[in-house]
Amino acid sequence: MLIPSHSPGDEDADWRAGDPEKIHDSFPCCVPPSFAALISDAEKSGDTLTAEALKKQVYPSAMEKVLTPSERADPLGEASYCVYPRLVHQYKNRVLLLSTGRCIGYCRYCFRRGFGAGHYGFISEAEAEQVCSYIAANPEIDEILVSGGDPMSVPFEKLENLLEKIRGIRPSLLIRICTRSPVFAPEIFTVEKLNALKSFRPLWLIPHINHPGELGNAQRGCLSAVVGTGIPVQSQTVLLQGVNDSAGVLSRLFKDLVCLGVKPGYLFQCDLAPGTSAFRVPLDRAFRIWKELRKELSGLSLPVFAVDLPGGGGKFPLDAAVLSENILSCRDGTLTVRLDNKKVYTYSV
Ligand code: SF4
Repeated sequence: MLIPSHSPGDEDADWRAGDPEKIHDSFPCCVPPSFAALISDAEKSGDTLTAEALKKQVYPSAMEKVLTPSERADPLGEASYCVYPRLVHQYKNRVLLLSTGRCIGYCRYCFRRGFGAGHYGFISEAEAEQVCSYIAANPEIDEILVSGGDPMSVPFEKLENLLEKIRGIRPSLLIRICTRSPVFAPEIFTVEKLNALKSFRPLWLIPHINHPGELGNAQRGCLSAVVGTGIPVQSQTVLLQGVNDSAGVLSRLFKDLVCLGVKPGYLFQCDLAPGTSAFRVPLDRAFRIWKELRKELSGLSLPVFAVDLPGGGGKFPLDAAVLSENILSCRDGTLTVRLDNKKVYTYSV
């Protein structure tokens, strides 16, 4: 792996070492019209639970001023894997590109809220060239996550220009676009834009969707159009207290997504970003929710339940922690489990 020299103290890297209190003060509040319409529809239909679940995600609360000792400006410890301020190379075969600090709407639990609070704009041409040269010089990289902020929040020509550069590195490089826009601004997915995105395949869209109430007619139409264009879609969801912390709500969401042609990819435990403790579901309750989901959902509808370990430990699947209480032993090539029905089963090779 070729690692270029990078001097800490770069302006764009500052947010990772930022003061959590300042992050709170400058993290924007913006509720996009399409999301406001979902809230208003839920209120009009008397579905106050859904309306509250949606509002909690986008309207600031006094709880954001509460900072806990475990919270960090850079909860995932990405700083230690930065090869450039906007490029994180944590896993051998893939890189993460923070294309912009801006979003279409701002989620109060955002784990990169320091980056959003810094109001960083879209990656410059020079930075993009630097990033592409790095990927070109490291052939083991076969995947790039274009994230942010929300890459779909910028004028589309800018994103297109960036994707052209990335696609020019090598045809086999898999591009993943991580975005909240199918929920926040489904109207931006025009036929022209979808066809343009399709031309950069292999490319997957990774929408962030947390609640079945986020799937109104416009959002459903958008996801169906993306799938219909031939762009594969895998969602990610954050487990959020007071939003989707019940097996009933989550199973409705995941079943809905599968019916739309979207594979539920990850359910994440909420990260330790400053001022987000009100959103974090205690682990024992999160495990109970997950166990119920496993009973309720097929493998197709069930996402991987995971946490991003603080301090740069990376993604860690929590499924195993939930299931370990069923394992009586696993040694000498023999696995013995006791299921919830109390029956014991053995698998041996
Ligand atoms: S859209 Fe994504 S990056 Fe933007 S505020 Fe929400 S979670 Fe954070």
